[in-house]
Amino acid sequence: MSMTEERRLSEKETAFVVGIMRWGSENYRDFVWRRENGDIFVVLVSEFLLRKTKSETVDRFMKETFLRRYHTFCDVAADSMESLKEILRPLGLHNQRAPALYTISETLCKMGRAPTYQEILKLPHCGRYIASAVDCFFWKSRRPIVDHNVQRVFNRYFSLPKAVEIHKAEHLWRFAERLLPERNFVEYNYHLLDFSALVCRPRSPRCDACPIRDTCDNYLSGRGSYKEM
Ligand code: SF4
Repeated sequence: MSMTEERRLSEKETAFVVGIMRWGSENYRDFVWRRENGDIFVVLVSEFLLRKTKSETVDRFMKETFLRRYHTFCDVAADSMESLKEILRPLGLHNQRAPALYTISETLCKMGRAPTYQEILKLPHCGRYIASAVDCFFWKSRRPIVDHNVQRVFNRYFSLPKAVEIHKAEHLWRFAERLLPERNFVEYNYHLLDFSALVCRPRSPRCDACPIRDTCDNYLSGRGSYKEM
């Protein structure tokens, strides 16, 4: 983190960002959509499936099933909707997600290039989270990412109020953007998502193994143990 960023952030915020970056560099998860030179097809489809399914499951599914059959949006569009439904059935995403993914594939096959942030927002079942994830992870834009997991970490560590509709909660997105490093923001976003899944877990957070517990509101208010807020 640069000196400029250190001056911009409070001590607590700096401890958070530095802690997440350090933890993440030692606990990196090598998913198929995180590989260097990732292509838009792999990144967008993975993010689309990740909204409802765990990362490890999507990773296995992409490697062992989906990417063995399809390599581009045009491959999906050239197949039948019924085939796509059968492919997605093991994930339980065959009813609503398959038709949406089919429409996305037809649209992007016709477009013939990677969609922008604004164009992703217009695709079915693609909201602010997916558009932000693709913008950051594919286009390498300095874009914050907030989902239920990230919101939970912010709520516990910073006592930031929770929102029901995260995509509309500007206070969360503004806060997340302020914390984003000027460089290494892609890695930071990956690390934050991993940290929320592996350490600051929904039910049994691993506070005793948490590298930022000494500055965490929730840990401190619970006098050394996790307390639901
Ligand atoms: S101390 Fe516990 S509640 Fe606080 S950030 Fe770490 S894992 Fe989450």
